[in-house]
Amino acid sequence: MRSDLNLVNLKVHTGELLIEAGISIRDGKIVKVAKTPNLPEAEETMDCGGLLAIPGPIDVHVHLRDMELSYKEDFYTGTCAAAAGGFTTVLDMPNTKPPTDSPEKLAEKVERARRSVVVNVGFYAIPPLDGQTVRELVSRGAVAFKVNLCKRWTDWDTGNQENLVKAFRIVSEAGRPVAVHAEEGSIVSEAEGRLRSSGRSGVMDYLEAHPDRAEFRAVRRVIQATLSSGARTHVCHVSTVWAVEALSRAKRFRVPVTCEVTPHHLFLTSKDLERIGTKAIVDPPLRSEVDVEALWRALREGVVDVVASDHAPHAEWEKVGDVWEVSPGFPGLETTLPLMLDAVNRGLVELDVVVRALCVRPAEIFGLVGKGRIREGYDADLVLVDMDGWWRVDPSEFHSKAKYSPFEGWRLMGVPVKTIVGGVVVAEGREVVGKPGSGRVLVG
Ligand SMILES: [Zn+2]
Repeated sequence: MRSDLNLVNLKVHTGELLIEAGISIRDGKIVKVAKTPNLPEAEETMDCGGLLAIPGPIDVHVHLRDMELSYKEDFYTGTCAAAAGGFTTVLDMPNTKPPTDSPEKLAEKVERARRSVVVNVGFYAIPPLDGQTVRELVSRGAVAFKVNLCKRWTDWDTGNQENLVKAFRIVSEAGRPVAVHAEEGSIVSEAEGRLRSSGRSGVMDYLEAHPDRAEFRAVRRVIQATLSSGARTHVCHVSTVWAVEALSRAKRFRVPVTCEVTPHHLFLTSKDLERIGTKAIVDPPLRSEVDVEALWRALREGVVDVVASDHAPHAEWEKVGDVWEVSPGFPGLETTLPLMLDAVNRGLVELDVVVRALCVRPAEIFGLVGKGRIREGYDADLVLVDMDGWWRVDPSEFHSKAKYSPFEGWRLMGVPVKTIVGGVVVAEGREVVGKPGSGRVLVG
């Protein structure tokens, strides 16, 4: 049978090894990875000029917003940012307006997204302490669940360890993983309250409101609750040496906990917060050089499983003013892959590690069958990258509605040049050519 498309003259990182090969695609699937003469005939052949193909990167921590928060980002602009940034699948966080905390609200989101997404999207939901509702959320498509230990998202108190164990158990029984924002809310709100009442509102005071021990305490609670519940847990955006140490030890004892790191915690420190100001405010905040060094080591050694952007777009006016009122986070979908490829070019990290952290492990941890590798029978989600291509980060070019970045002006070597979702090219360089609806909504 003839294929739809043959990509030839490529270096292919399959997720395991780097080979010289071509890729044959039919009906949105990879049907063959082989030297050109051994590929089946195809309707169309694309000479890729020696570019590198990697499995479609999966961003497991994205806030696409939409609905009442569409002024910050919507499903179309967010997934355009993903496509231009080289991501083929993103997982959307549930702290939207309205929040994704009931089967009806999830169904509405899925329906809306189906018509507008350019890359694949899976949805997180917020778990109620009720097994029946959690099972319904899974049957409506919840790929994973998210618990925030720092801010109140749930109708139950996350500060209570019994509740946390119960939530983990319920999610685990529904067969899905649970991701956690691990900063202890009681520590953060106490510290913030103290600073505010003493009139402190400098940008560096924000660090004091989010001390290391808030993350450490929360990570320990997650590890304990993982053991008590039998759940598979994933710690979002680890940022401190203490959290990394605790997770490393837990993993050595085979606790089924995984974790992610963001590019901003890898490439920036609190000195950048001081330099940039409120636009660089993010939760958890930018940390010290010691923390950054520990995060890089943990990524190289595999203690950190995943790199995720924590793409958190806000309107520009929400990023200035009183430090306690500024919305935390900034866009990351368009900078994450170039930053990581640049790090490979600079010798900071091996390509193998980047492919593992952006493609292989996200698919494994979140149970995304047929994704994360370039392999026969897998979905034809991949990105062609030019390791010698340059890009100067210019937020005014972003597809995201949030046109600012702490990486503004950075010159990066290593860029995505073609993003392919289900065998269809959705971005050519920075230009999005995919139509709304060319991505799929993942269901369970
Ligand atoms: Zn987030």
